[in-house]
Amino acid sequence: MSVPAASPPFASSALDTLRRVFGYEQFRGEQHAVVEHVVGGGDALVLMPTGGGKSLCYQVPALMRQGTGVVISPLIALMQDQVAALLEVGVRAAYLNSSQSFDEARAVERAYVAGELDLLYVAPERLLTERCLQLLDHGQVALFAIDEAHCVSQWGHDFRPEYMGLSLLAERWPQVPRVALTATATAETRDEIVERLGLQDAARFVASFDRPNIRYRIVEKNEVRRQLLEFIQNDHAGDAGIVYALSRAGVEKTADFLVQNGVDALPYHAGLPAQVRAANQARFLREDGVVMVATIAFGMGIDKPDVRFVAHIDMPRSVEGYYQETGRAGRDGLPSQAWLAYGLQDVVQQRRMIDESDGNDPHKRRMAQQLDAMLGLCETVECRRQRLLAYFGEPHTTACGNCDVCLEPPQTWDGTVAAQKVLSAVFRLWHERGQRYGAGHLIDILRGKLTPRVQENQHDQLSVFGVGGDHSDREWRGVIRQLVAQGLLAVDHEGFSSLMLTEASREVLKGQRQLLLRREPVRERRQRGGSRQRAPIIDLPPEAAARFAELRAWRASVARDHGVPAYVIFHDSTLREIALAAPRSLDDLSRINGVGVRKLESYGPDILRQVRAA
Ligand code: ADP
Ligand code: ZN
Repeated sequence: MSVPAASPPFASSALDTLRRVFGYEQFRGEQHAVVEHVVGGGDALVLMPTGGGKSLCYQVPALMRQGTGVVISPLIALMQDQVAALLEVGVRAAYLNSSQSFDEARAVERAYVAGELDLLYVAPERLLTERCLQLLDHGQVALFAIDEAHCVSQWGHDFRPEYMGLSLLAERWPQVPRVALTATATAETRDEIVERLGLQDAARFVASFDRPNIRYRIVEKNEVRRQLLEFIQNDHAGDAGIVYALSRAGVEKTADFLVQNGVDALPYHAGLPAQVRAANQARFLREDGVVMVATIAFGMGIDKPDVRFVAHIDMPRSVEGYYQETGRAGRDGLPSQAWLAYGLQDVVQQRRMIDESDGNDPHKRRMAQQLDAMLGLCETVECRRQRLLAYFGEPHTTACGNCDVCLEPPQTWDGTVAAQKVLSAVFRLWHERGQRYGAGHLIDILRGKLTPRVQENQHDQLSVFGVGGDHSDREWRGVIRQLVAQGLLAVDHEGFSSLMLTEASREVLKGQRQLLLRREPVRERRQRGGSRQRAPIIDLPPEAAARFAELRAWRASVARDHGVPAYVIFHDSTLREIALAAPRSLDDLSRINGVGVRKLESYGPDILRQVRAA
């Protein structure tokens, strides 16, 4: 077969391009509408969840319009893989960034000017240099795609000042269509993107933000590393995953702990030398079953499709950040999990960070609101997914059946009296003794424990001593956590996180307000593998499983030879389909999703041989 895959690009329909080049049968959701709009020269704002298929929204139009599609992407480290994936399907793609030698960059520039590129990836700071702006004038720009457009939002969690300069595109090339894409956007962030990128007249395409294949679970934190290990061993042995921790120290300790316990884990945070970070990222992308333990410095733009879980061992600062991070699980649409462990200490720590941050008052207020929304999600007794989607302004009328609340419903109980006991202990300590304490000592007092500290301070003389024998330590921690989460107790950071009353505490103390609290579901010890979400290979009938294994081994060796991640050659989902269909001819093979003209040509005969051999 000698049909060129990508060129000549014009004169074919969008669907034709999708099938021929990418080997996909149909557009998904809004993709077709976006493509038609942009091919026609319109600007677009595309909001789709991670894994929704944003790339095709600009890649297909770039192939169909005259000239080169210029993609602005913040992540130099990932451009290489993106370009490699495009070259694999026969698209003429290249990037310009600081990792290249002068000669390499010159060659790319020449190719652009000569009209030999379908897509050109550039980092924003590079694009905005005079040299690059002039270069673009010497060739033809088919469109601008602004990836991760939420980076322009100053209030967001990924703000990149370079993005602000992109307003220049509209002024300098008013006739070139622009597509801004992001997977994260509250109404506020959306407005900011439109405003700062001058997209007032752009058509908006908003896909559902639901990720039905992700199971959300939020558990009470006690021994978090043990809990994490158990979660990985029970549900995700051998799977690729990302574990997010707030601090660098937390990252290192957790990665060490996992490694000691037989998990193939690597650390990633901004304090590591650049080569170590790059090497760890490359291993995560290129090898199967690596767990990356990271701060939020890791993950944007990571398009590894088979990340089976994302775990948070510290509570994220906002729902937006949480959703963005969890969204990195299961881009391939297969079952995946988002797991978060959360406890009193998280609330205390986050409130402290806000109090101690240098921002001005509106900024602090905003951070406090974001934290409250996150706390609301953690403490809710309703479906997590409904709550998440509501946060993004998307009603979801039924409970999802695929989150911890739906699967193991927590109970609510009337915690008014328990809350009053806690609050009056705080009140008495302060007013009778001028003392403030943290949760641990308060619980000892309530439960009537004669600890050295209690005796030393004669706290057994307090009228609240021993009034809390009806609840366990853990239950009291739950009560206190929820009081702090709801702003009914405040944390005094100067006094070693001791607790104090707030304005709102009064109503509860006076019995003017009833408090419904969440009771953690009693966890039956799940049998090993009980709710295990199996790796894709296990779902296949034996013969197909054997073929799948052969194909994966073959893919691994090809990927090694080409120096690219395995999924750049073929996705698991494509190999699965091949394994199931056991194609006998190139014609059969061409009907599999993910096998376009170029890949059929490069790999078809090899694959048929593998299938026959297996
Ligand atoms: P996003 O950038 O929105 O996170 P991607 O563009 O990386 O998502 O697409 C997610 C996955 O879905 C990719 O593996 C991609 O190949 C696949 N995909 C996208 N559109 C289609 C389609 N129309 N048919 C089949 N697979 C698709
Ligand atoms: Zn649910």
